[in-house]
Amino acid sequence: MSPLLYYALPALGSYVMLSFFFLRRPRLLHTPWVPAFRPRLGAHRGGSGERLENTMEAMENSMAQRADFLELDCQLTRDGVVVVSHDKNLSRQTGVNRDVGSLNFEDLPLLKEELEVYFSPGHFARGADRHMMRLEDLFRRFPRTPMSVEVKERNEELIHKIACLVRHYDRNEITIWASEKSSIMKKCKAANPEMPTSFTLSRGFWVLLFYYLGLLPFISIPEKFFMCFLPTIINRTYFPFSHPGLNQLAAVVAKWLIMRKSLIQHLQQRGVQALGSLCSPWAAPRVGPLPPAPAMVRISKPKTFQAYLDDCHRRYSCAHCRAHLANHDDLISKSFQGSQGRAYLFNSVVNVGCGPAEERVLLTGLHAVADIHCENCKTTLGWKYEQAFESSQKYKEGKYIIELNHMIKDNGWD
Ligand SMILES: [Zn+2]
Repeated sequence: MSPLLYYALPALGSYVMLSFFFLRRPRLLHTPWVPAFRPRLGAHRGGSGERLENTMEAMENSMAQRADFLELDCQLTRDGVVVVSHDKNLSRQTGVNRDVGSLNFEDLPLLKEELEVYFSPGHFARGADRHMMRLEDLFRRFPRTPMSVEVKERNEELIHKIACLVRHYDRNEITIWASEKSSIMKKCKAANPEMPTSFTLSRGFWVLLFYYLGLLPFISIPEKFFMCFLPTIINRTYFPFSHPGLNQLAAVVAKWLIMRKSLIQHLQQRGVQALGSLCSPWAAPRVGPLPPAPAMVRISKPKTFQAYLDDCHRRYSCAHCRAHLANHDDLISKSFQGSQGRAYLFNSVVNVGCGPAEERVLLTGLHAVADIHCENCKTTLGWKYEQAFESSQKYKEGKYIIELNHMIKDNGWD
């Protein structure tokens, strides 16, 4: 063995071991940041799947669906008003080919009557409220609701005004700076250093690189939020290749690279919250929430997912992600027992996936059952009766059990 290898190999081995050790125990090196809030359900562009994006109506609708976090973007008008708008140019949202910055607030056009939902081409959101709103009005309406404010333009006046509004409404701790560009983020941090920040694209890339090089445990991470669209969600429309197979491959590879349990756990132990966009409406999500548990769902459409149960019905939704699960009309019985308490028997369910069937001896005899899970967040909800072997139990065949603590009552309940 050459003398170089003689020293290099043990050194490399020690480095790998140290790196693994501190990856799992980051608190030995870093004091974790204690977050002022832990979002569970966020609304992308204020809930752009159900109402017109970034309007007060959309935000109120999202909050009524128990969202606890609003994601939005800001632009500045000619007369210096910070407005909530994703685009700099108004033509997609309003049909008027002008920049927000070229008009006074009072002269901003109404939004179109319907807007295509991001990540869901061909699907449109509508709403009664077509007005663009001031950021200040949103802060007044929801003073204690955490929000992520994304700045897309390198506009110092805009950044300065957002920073001042956040200070004025005493919400430094619950308002996150977001930007894809590090140069903009630098300005944001300078304007209000007390607001937590999320990763920019390049910082996200560096963190991944450090992770794979084993350096992550040894570098400092000033960001508090790691937000990403899960690759398999955005793959349908926004991956670069023309061949769908290549897009799918890119999504799978990107997902494999980013969604590392040890990475997310490491970040979370250091107080960085990993937030994933779990599902966009109508797109069938193939991935679950970011492991481990406190990850959030950042979605366009807080209420409705792949399957959409009638609005006027009393219904049950997933307690973890609010996907619709069943109509009250399909409830057969409330007197079942699950592994974690009471459970309901339903005639039919939606947004539910089924595992393989296996034979189990239940309180009421031998059955072939299959575990069922929420298609959106992959939480195991209960089981499906595939087959009952005793004639008195035959009525359960093809029916679904959902445990009560995985459901919430949704819509139309008094
Ligand atoms: Zn769910």
